[in-house]
Amino acid sequence: MKNLLLGMSTAELKLLAKELGEKKFRGKQVSDWLYRQGCREISGMATLPVAFKAKLEEGYQIGRSLVKKISKSKDGTFKLLLQPAYGELVETVGMPYEGRFSCCVSTQVGCPIGCAFCATGTGGFKRNLSAGEIVDQVLTVGETAIKEKLLAADGRVSHVVFMGMGEPLLNYDAMLAAVHLINSELAIGMRNITVSTIGYVPGIYRLAGEDLQLTLAVSLHAADDALRRKLVPGMTRYTLQEITDACKHYFRETGRRVTFEYCLLKGVNDGQADAAKLAVLLQGLNCHVNLIPFNKVRGSGFYPPETFRVTNFRRVLEETGITVTQREQRGEGIEAACGQLRRQALTGQGDLRIK
Ligand code: SF4
Repeated sequence: MKNLLLGMSTAELKLLAKELGEKKFRGKQVSDWLYRQGCREISGMATLPVAFKAKLEEGYQIGRSLVKKISKSKDGTFKLLLQPAYGELVETVGMPYEGRFSCCVSTQVGCPIGCAFCATGTGGFKRNLSAGEIVDQVLTVGETAIKEKLLAADGRVSHVVFMGMGEPLLNYDAMLAAVHLINSELAIGMRNITVSTIGYVPGIYRLAGEDLQLTLAVSLHAADDALRRKLVPGMTRYTLQEITDACKHYFRETGRRVTFEYCLLKGVNDGQADAAKLAVLLQGLNCHVNLIPFNKVRGSGFYPPETFRVTNFRRVLEETGITVTQREQRGEGIEAACGQLRRQALTGQGDLRIK
């Protein structure tokens, strides 16, 4: 198994070039081929001397994935099932919006948290992804969007959300390295990067200390601990109070408003009493709440809330001064919720899931 070049920064590639007896600028050329040209084979790096390419090929390969399957929705959203250089299949999603193009990346294959409504969670945890495998998803989504004419030939992914398969803060080092690579090598602004967590408190404190201008999104899905324990069984170590305390700390350290994600499940957590509890929990926090009405998916045992319940839930929060948005439904018909496509490929079944 060769080492992968993808995942190394320009600085690391310069050091590698030096170690292999070349001038440092050759490392910069390698990073241009990897991150700006989307090169898939070392032999294709036309500006490098033949001898340097031969030395690189002895110990390294680029590490790009192959697209095994693409599912497309009418709204332009597409989901890719990727075969990485080594290891199990990975999912990633591309989403066109007016004036921007967003990629939703996975950080793990499977997930150890096991949320009750999530296909990834019900499939268990397989492994962490490397920083290179995370960056590969952004490159591949950009290339696919150009092929599908969703982006101009010189267009690129403008936003990245760490909201696919897995819990990013449980794969912290690779997640952080990928954030830096996406920012510095792919030139995607830190403010256009969102890291979403299910509420892993030590990870929130650690991220607060990184001095980054990214957006932190925290998925709550319940306004009391008893219900949250049922919906999010793999993160029962931390109470909602501990999670919101960590978010207060995050805001104090970074000045960045935290987003709280709340998936509305019919008759489970979508009542006005739930909204009132949520409002109390978030009192005094500089935040906004993103409501996600659950998408109907077979086999989940959960159902979408009626529109009037969403409206009432939203009104209760807004009356207390909380800013509320509602996630636009994307990817109809493509099993767009994370974990579904992989599960379908492995088992022949599609089903549930939303982050
Ligand atoms: S919703 Fe997120 S944290 Fe929960 S099981 Fe699925 S991938 Fe893991």
